[in-house]
Amino acid sequence: MEIKKGIPVSPGVAIATAVTLGAEEYRISHEPVAPEQVARELDRLNAAFEASLAELSSLRQTTAHQVGQDIAAIFDFHYGVMSQGRLREQMAALLTSHRYTAEYSVREIMRDYQRRFLNMEDELLRERVRDIRDIERRLLRHLCGGSGEDLAHLQDQVILVAHDLTPSQGANLSRTKVLALAMDTGGLTSHTAIVVRSMGIPAVMGLKDISQAVGDGDTVILDGTKGLAIIRPDPAMVEEYRREEQRMREVAVGLVELRDKPAVTIDGTRISLAANIEFPYEAALCLEKGAEGVGLYRTEFLYLRSETEPTEQEHCEAYYSVVRAMKGRPIIIRTLDLGADKYTRQQATEPERNPFLGLRSIRYCLQNLDLFKIQLRAILRASAEGDVRIMFPLISGLMELRQGKMALGDAMEDLEEMGVPFRRDIPVGIMVETPGAAIQIREFMREVDFLSIGSNDLIQYTLAVDRNNERVAPLYTASHPAVLHTLREVIQKANRAGVPCSLCGEMAGEPLYTLFLIGIGLRQFSMAANDIPEIKRIIRSTTVARAERIARKALSYETDRLVSNYLRDEVRKVAPESL
Ligand code: PEP
Ligand code: MG
Repeated sequence: MEIKKGIPVSPGVAIATAVTLGAEEYRISHEPVAPEQVARELDRLNAAFEASLAELSSLRQTTAHQVGQDIAAIFDFHYGVMSQGRLREQMAALLTSHRYTAEYSVREIMRDYQRRFLNMEDELLRERVRDIRDIERRLLRHLCGGSGEDLAHLQDQVILVAHDLTPSQGANLSRTKVLALAMDTGGLTSHTAIVVRSMGIPAVMGLKDISQAVGDGDTVILDGTKGLAIIRPDPAMVEEYRREEQRMREVAVGLVELRDKPAVTIDGTRISLAANIEFPYEAALCLEKGAEGVGLYRTEFLYLRSETEPTEQEHCEAYYSVVRAMKGRPIIIRTLDLGADKYTRQQATEPERNPFLGLRSIRYCLQNLDLFKIQLRAILRASAEGDVRIMFPLISGLMELRQGKMALGDAMEDLEEMGVPFRRDIPVGIMVETPGAAIQIREFMREVDFLSIGSNDLIQYTLAVDRNNERVAPLYTASHPAVLHTLREVIQKANRAGVPCSLCGEMAGEPLYTLFLIGIGLRQFSMAANDIPEIKRIIRSTTVARAERIARKALSYETDRLVSNYLRDEVRKVAPESL
């Protein structure tokens, strides 16, 4: 049994066998082949070796020619390991004795080598583990072809263990087949985390080398609440987790009773709790969890789930279905937030050096006006059917907002010419998720109907910490005093100006921050629907005066650690079961 600790990004527990996806995303079956197929698998293994060796010698030549002998010598090691026969013999022996596929035999033997290299004392030898991985990938590429098996068509219920999944791969997972996800990379606010959370798939990220430590077919317990992956658990551990699953079911039942109760503090202040969605089908879950509306609809997932760009009609259908399901409740549709880690096929072929600081979000839309206007027209059409509002993401300067509004004006003219009904005074808001927007909030407030703070991005841009990078994950925290002070400034200014201001980043659904946020004046939250009952429970357990005292005190600390410890203590006092 081995226990690994990572970042808990989506709560819940699952116990199942693992399917692993390496850095190159090969899904490798551990099922034995029929006895008569063993010879064929051996042929495939040999062919993969021959193809890899031919490739390496040609790589060696071209590299020597282009960048010199020193670099080309890297491939000598690979060629040497592959050509000396021992490796191939070991794989062939495993394949024959267990009737494994060629792929599985390659993976098993290479993982064994990787483990041995990782345990070596000599640092230089430990470094060689990368080369071993390279050799494995090369062989697998020749065996599996260009792409891994399609994740959407898994046969069994599994725990998916991956080096890294993109948000679009996450969005295409089967919710019935993938019981949980464990990943080497990623963090709490990475979009892959957000999407699997919204799909209700328990997940732990930032596990660093879980994809190396787990083999296909291993039993894994994934605890998305505590951030643990337990590999090959012993029977006592499995038993303990079966009990934990039962306990969590009981807690969930307790929270259901809160659904129809208002989110109101003990002293009578009403707080509005809306939900974030990525897919139209989530609207049903919003109502089930007691959401008062959709505070953030991340529409870019329409692109990420489809091979082709959605048409205006497809946009409309998605929006209409949310409007119908939400039965008159407000729906804030955020315009496309493509770029950074969420890209279309075209964006993927033109990678940027610094994608989170690059052509993402509103910037991408303003440079691709045709694509932008298709969406704007669709949102406007939907505005004739319900309480639809429009929100621009990643605004960093006033000109972007004005250009966005101009594009909206053009879309209105198009519809007018066609005689299509829409709401001309549709409320227009921005996300406050860059320090630029936060600092210039007064100017922005004169030109918008509402604000929504995107704390996920605001934290990453305020602290210069990549929200997706597990290596700097401990630095990424909403408890940083600079973040807390920025939030207070924005919320207080909005309240004074009478401009509705919500917060829709993951922080809104974290029990640790509820009291603080109420204390600095936040009255509108938007979060993953599943988080609503827990946050409502905290709201119903405090007075505003108490929350204000807590916020004042939290703002007096100088480090994030002190803030977190303090807030944890305070939440424990009002709602001990929430943490
Ligand atoms: C945010 O940045 O806080 C936000 C809600 O937007 P996203 O997570 O989609 O970037
Ligand atoms: Mg954002």
